[in-house]
Amino acid sequence: MSKFLQPRDYDITTLGKRQKCIPGKEPVLNRSGEVIQVCDPDLDDKALKYVSKAVTSTWISSRGSFLTAFETKFAEKVGASFGVAVNSGTSALYLALAAYGLEEGDEVIVPSFTMISTAFAVTYLGAIPVFVDCSENYQINPELIEQAITPKTKIIMPVHIYGHPCDSDAIEAIAEKHNLAVIYDAAEAHGALYKEKPIGNRGLASCYSFYGNKIITTGEGGMVVSDNKEFMDIVRNLKDVSFSPERHFWHKRLGYNFRMTNLAAAVGVAQVERFDELVQAHISNAEYYNEGLKNVKGLRLPPQEEWAKNVYWMYGMSVLPEFGGTRDELRKFMADKGIETRTFFVPMHLQPYYFKPETDKKLPVSEKLSEQGLYIPSSSTLTAQQKDKVIEAIKDASKFFHS
Ligand SMILES: *Cc1c(COP(=O)(O)O)cnc(C)c1O
Repeated sequence: MSKFLQPRDYDITTLGKRQKCIPGKEPVLNRSGEVIQVCDPDLDDKALKYVSKAVTSTWISSRGSFLTAFETKFAEKVGASFGVAVNSGTSALYLALAAYGLEEGDEVIVPSFTMISTAFAVTYLGAIPVFVDCSENYQINPELIEQAITPKTKIIMPVHIYGHPCDSDAIEAIAEKHNLAVIYDAAEAHGALYKEKPIGNRGLASCYSFYGNKIITTGEGGMVVSDNKEFMDIVRNLKDVSFSPERHFWHKRLGYNFRMTNLAAAVGVAQVERFDELVQAHISNAEYYNEGLKNVKGLRLPPQEEWAKNVYWMYGMSVLPEFGGTRDELRKFMADKGIETRTFFVPMHLQPYYFKPETDKKLPVSEKLSEQGLYIPSSSTLTAQQKDKVIEAIKDASKFFHS
């Protein structure tokens, strides 16, 4: 055995029927014709021009005019007063929790149905993510939060999943009653609205990602946004190894290097100038798919609560038994036609790193979603023909499985 860090793992047969939550082998994409990917970044000439400008200016590290412009413009677009750009969405989450003062042994309420970074951010600080199930709308179920709160709980960390906002009013009411902070993971929800208002100033802070497949991208990148100036001053200080403004090489907090480069921010400025267009392209894709798929039996199309503006970062749906084939069979059928799909998240409580056989927590809605859910190509660059091809493939699969 190696002397280095060992993986945590377990035998998935332990899960019994719930093994279906763990995706099998990826279907092989047929690359002989046109391939339609789940997501392509949407970059324009301006991005190129701004990056060249950053290079020419030699301001390529973590100071420069693109950084300031990106922070200001992005924060404004999501309805927040302040933004601090960082090198990833994961760093943004970590930084926000650190700046709050989360400590070892503290507990944070996290949805089980999310991407791993939400939970890891908590674990980095020695704190404990307490996983809560979601509702049929994919978002953390506010009715299950209260029973997960203990005297050690410090923060609720909801996620706006796949571009649909979570029920912030209900969550924040619980947080207020128990004197907890709310820090949102908004990595998938650029431009989403809750009760007609931007979501970026909700709770103490929100954390965005600008990874290549996100609605707004800087390649890699992230941002913490908030209306709370005192908090954001700490976030800014921590992201830059907590240099003190009044004295060189003088550090009063445990800081990090999570700085975004001016090069990445140059891409970000070009993207944020197209913010409304990029968000709208995702919504238009969803409207197109909703129309094209509405009569296909056995599909549960993405949620749309009446209080939400869903920006459909990814068009995620569930394949129900009435479809005739399973989610994995549909994925294979589409892969044969050169169409890429992705399964939903594997719930956090079943991840090898977090799974505890002795408690063997069951969160049925998250588990059902990860068994049945997939998302289909969702790029802002999709053409009508490509969307037609995706819709036709799904309809063909439905006919094939019923024949
Ligand atoms: C993408 C994503 C992150 C992580 O962002 P990175 O920029 O990849 O670090 C965190 N949370 C959610 C929900 C995400 O989708």
